[in-house]
Amino acid sequence: MSKNGYLQIHDPLKPKGHAVGIDLGTTNSLVASVIQGKPRCIAADEGESNLLPSVVHYGKDGGVVVGARAKTLASEHPTDTILSVKRFMGRSPEDAETRKLGAYKFASGGKVVRFDVAGGQPVTPIEVSGEILRALKRRAESYFSGRVEQAVITVPAYFDDAQRQATKDAGRLAGLEVLRLLNEPTAAALAYGLDKGSQGTYAVYDLGGGTFDVSILKLVDGVFEVKSTGGDSALGGDDFDRAIAQRVLEALGQSSPSPSLVAEVLAASRKAKEALTDAPEVELTVGSHRQTLKRSDFEEWIRPLIQKTGVVCRRALKDAGVAASELDGVILVGGATRVPAVRRFVAEQFGREPLSDIDPDQVVALGAAVQADLLTNVDRQDEVLLLDVIPLSLGLETMGGLVEKLIQRNSTIPTAAAQVFTTFKDGQTGLDVHVLQGERELVEDCRSLARFTLSGIPPLPAGMARVEVRFQVDADGILAVTAKEQSTGTTQSITVKPSHGLTDEEIENMLLDSIDHAEDDVQVRQLREQRVESERVLTEAQRQLGEHGELLAEGERASIEAAMAKVREVAQGNDHHALKEAIHALDEVCKPFVERVMNQALTKVVAGHSVEEF
Ligand code: ADP
Ligand code: MG
Repeated sequence: MSKNGYLQIHDPLKPKGHAVGIDLGTTNSLVASVIQGKPRCIAADEGESNLLPSVVHYGKDGGVVVGARAKTLASEHPTDTILSVKRFMGRSPEDAETRKLGAYKFASGGKVVRFDVAGGQPVTPIEVSGEILRALKRRAESYFSGRVEQAVITVPAYFDDAQRQATKDAGRLAGLEVLRLLNEPTAAALAYGLDKGSQGTYAVYDLGGGTFDVSILKLVDGVFEVKSTGGDSALGGDDFDRAIAQRVLEALGQSSPSPSLVAEVLAASRKAKEALTDAPEVELTVGSHRQTLKRSDFEEWIRPLIQKTGVVCRRALKDAGVAASELDGVILVGGATRVPAVRRFVAEQFGREPLSDIDPDQVVALGAAVQADLLTNVDRQDEVLLLDVIPLSLGLETMGGLVEKLIQRNSTIPTAAAQVFTTFKDGQTGLDVHVLQGERELVEDCRSLARFTLSGIPPLPAGMARVEVRFQVDADGILAVTAKEQSTGTTQSITVKPSHGLTDEEIENMLLDSIDHAEDDVQVRQLREQRVESERVLTEAQRQLGEHGELLAEGERASIEAAMAKVREVAQGNDHHALKEAIHALDEVCKPFVERVMNQALTKVVAGHSVEEF
């Protein structure tokens, strides 16, 4: 009952409405939602495009126009119409990237970029993106005829903290609760349901309007890790338009065309490019000029551009340490991957046909919708937090100051694990349960989370009592530890919140530590284990000598005691191999004696009964 976050969503007094997934793209943005069990993109109107051009126009009267209509205003009002605002997210006015994109008027001063636009105060990229998100929110609300307040918004895998924070702020500005920021390649993988598999390595090839991104993802137990990313922030489908436009302007005999003619030719080129995806030949018209374009020529013109993406792909594979042949799949994302030559090239590069069943410009939004649904739909709670993991392993202290891990780091939650422990001493009636977190082998190197004692264990010989310790981590990451003595049912439990008080940095340091010390730890662990074992065999040998001395053969006591002394001596040192050998030697020396003890016990039992009973 600690899933408070989810209960709140379904509080009937304050319905949150539908949760959506949003692909906030450089060129185009989309909103999607799971509708009747299936993710679907939402169009402005029935039959219209799902894509909302990521363009915002600020009018002199203070009015704001977003989308296709804003795009038509761009050539006439270049400084009041913001395109590709995503490139400015989280950037300072001093960034090289900002200066490169200097088509706008920037307001001076301040830590963030501000566009000096018509109709009032300068606006920040967060505000501009907020307008795009608001338009998408309204679109979804009119589709559902209801409120939309929660969203999963996608961001490029390479986005840094400032860029992510800016995206989150834009969401908040638009009146959205940002359930989560999701990496675009991960969203694409979710749309394909690849998280349903257990393992896998995937490449996501995303060629949008003005940017190219490639990511190598690794799925481990339902969690996608981004192994590497690469890209070219100045390469995309728009460059294909320019490749066509250049030839058209040549054919027009225009060496210094006016900006408006360039804009017109570019628009016609884009239309022709998109048409060439389905037809081998298309007609392009600009004014009275008509020109036939062949797909084969187009492919020739864009070949160098496509080949540039290959270099980036190979580097990303190398960075991730995977060969193309080791991939389990390649996903196509971005409108420009519709171009048949691009598809062929990707297939060639990765040595396999890419996944392309889902519309490449919708796939990211659809994946975001799936994630939004997972995070909010009460019927899918089992799958909720599929992507949430335990940052550090959880375990228990065992004899010798060692940590026995019950739940491994990166396990998806909710999860549970149990292990049966026994008593170490004869007549032991209590068991100390010490809960630890960390990757190291020794108690002192891990973080102590909780400690309690299970008392009331019936006094039994060492090793006879059975205590089951159960770890259960719920969807909110809260750990409950229960210890139960199995013969009496005596139970004791405690609840701890493992992540409490640990910063990401601390988690990172603990992980790095465990890698640094992995070798040492193994040595120490083995030594401690052997020491515990030596104590057990010494106690046992001592007991047998005391109870069954009459069964000892001539000189046997002396040799057993010598072997015991040897074990004690070696246990003082640090050589776990030597200790293991000494223990083994003691076992060997004791063997004939122990056999006699066993036989006698058996004879005693049999003596009281008739042979037929057996
Ligand atoms: P972004 O992720 O940058 O917002 P998109 O994924 O929406 O961009 O991709 C936009 C690009 O895809 C544009 O260059 C557009 O011309 C191109 N595109 C869209 N449809 C097609 C098509 N049918 N054939 C070729 N290119 C297309
Ligand atoms: Mg995109």
